[in-house]
Amino acid sequence: MSDNIVAIDGPSGSGKSSVSKLLATKLGFKYLDTGAMYRAITFYIIRESIDINDIPSLEKLLQSIKISFDTSFNVYLNNENIAKEIRSMPVVERVSEIASIKIVRENMVDLQRRIALSGKYVLDGRDIGSVVFPNAKHKFYLEATIEERAKRRHKEEVEKGSSISFDEVKESIAKRDEFDKNRLESPLIIPKDAILIDTTNLGIEDVINTMVSYIGEIVD
Ligand code: C5P
Repeated sequence: MSDNIVAIDGPSGSGKSSVSKLLATKLGFKYLDTGAMYRAITFYIIRESIDINDIPSLEKLLQSIKISFDTSFNVYLNNENIAKEIRSMPVVERVSEIASIKIVRENMVDLQRRIALSGKYVLDGRDIGSVVFPNAKHKFYLEATIEERAKRRHKEEVEKGSSISFDEVKESIAKRDEFDKNRLESPLIIPKDAILIDTTNLGIEDVINTMVSYIGEIVD
């Protein structure tokens, strides 16, 4: 069982990334945003107009691209900072489809394990506690009502200057939920030994405090 890994899973807008960043800081761990990795691949596939049914081309792409992060949570694709681009609507609309492809997942899971085993990490995603690190000692699953999750995402979009409506955001989240929960490869599930936290009516600090109370023994 690994003490060096905290696995945080849950659907879009459940609070995973804000909570994971803060929790990592609190524990003195690093943070790995696995969703950003699937988004980076998606961005590249869109930009290069790659046919996702052409598996040999996909394999070649996966072997040739380099995804990395810096300490400010920027994401780099072959050393190009694409932190902003991976949050764009064209990427959001296709990421779940691309993340359901077997070789994409195998490649990303392998990279996630290599990165995280080099230190102490909080990882967030959809399959961290179930597939990437099933032996992690600390596993959490965050959830919230779709209304609340859409509200959070819509606020972020408005702050970025987007004119997208609340209903459009809600529909996009519902579509991704459906895809992520029903795919064949590593669907979004609640890992059987994960602690479930409903964040609908909780602030970030409340969620962090709950988590820290569970993992307290590893905090010095
Ligand atoms: O977490 P985020 O919203 O950035 O994830 C974007 C998409 O990447 C998810 O909707 C999901 O399809 C995919 N993903 C995944 N497995 C992960 C992380 C993200 O399939 N571990």
